Amino acid sequence: MIEMLKVLRLGHRRERDKRISTHVALTARALGADEFILTGEKDDKLMKTVKDVVKRFGGSFKTNYSDNWEKTVKENRKKSYKIIHLTMYGEKIQDIKREIKEIKNCLVIVGGEKVPKKAYELSDYNVSVTNQPHSEVSALAILLDRYYEGKELGFKFEDGEIEIKPSRSEKIVEKK
Ligand code: SAM
Repeated sequence: MIEMLKVLRLGHRRERDKRISTHVALTARALGADEFILTGEKDDKLMKTVKDVVKRFGGSFKTNYSDNWEKTVKENRKKSYKIIHLTMYGEKIQDIKREIKEIKNCLVIVGGEKVPKKAYELSDYNVSVTNQPHSEVSALAILLDRYYEGKELGFKFEDGEIEIKPSRSEKIVEKK
């Protein structure tokens, strides 16, 4: 079982990617990752949005910024993290699922508009979620779901300020 899972977003552009990069971070958090690393343009507003969600909804999800993605990837490799790069050109997720389930510490790279060749070279696994173009958010969600085999749907988030009580007919938000 994984001990630490980080998600690194390549090449963020503050204006054009603000929504999708926020969604990458929130998806990572909701589906069991421990940390989000933004690379590309710095974006304090995005980081604040994610931190606010952590404060309100709980858990220990971390957010960090790196001004040098390559250095960050190499540092994590040195710490024995395995690198998974999500790309439609990669090996099919269903074909390497067994191998990736053995990983203890993992850094998942999701791309942006242009993905440098170096990202493919520095990765232990280039993984596709179908070989069709779609989105970093959907690719990440399916990778995490395949990895945790659905258990992530029941993960608990401690120490938040609020909790949603699932309901068929209304919005129920409980203050803690
Ligand atoms: N044009 C970019 C490139 O050079 O590869 C890809 C842009 S795509 C909108 C953004 C990111 O979504 C990719 O870098 C990848 O991480 C993810 N992605 C999109 N489709 C994918 C797929 N079928 N499998 C895995 N990841 C995918």
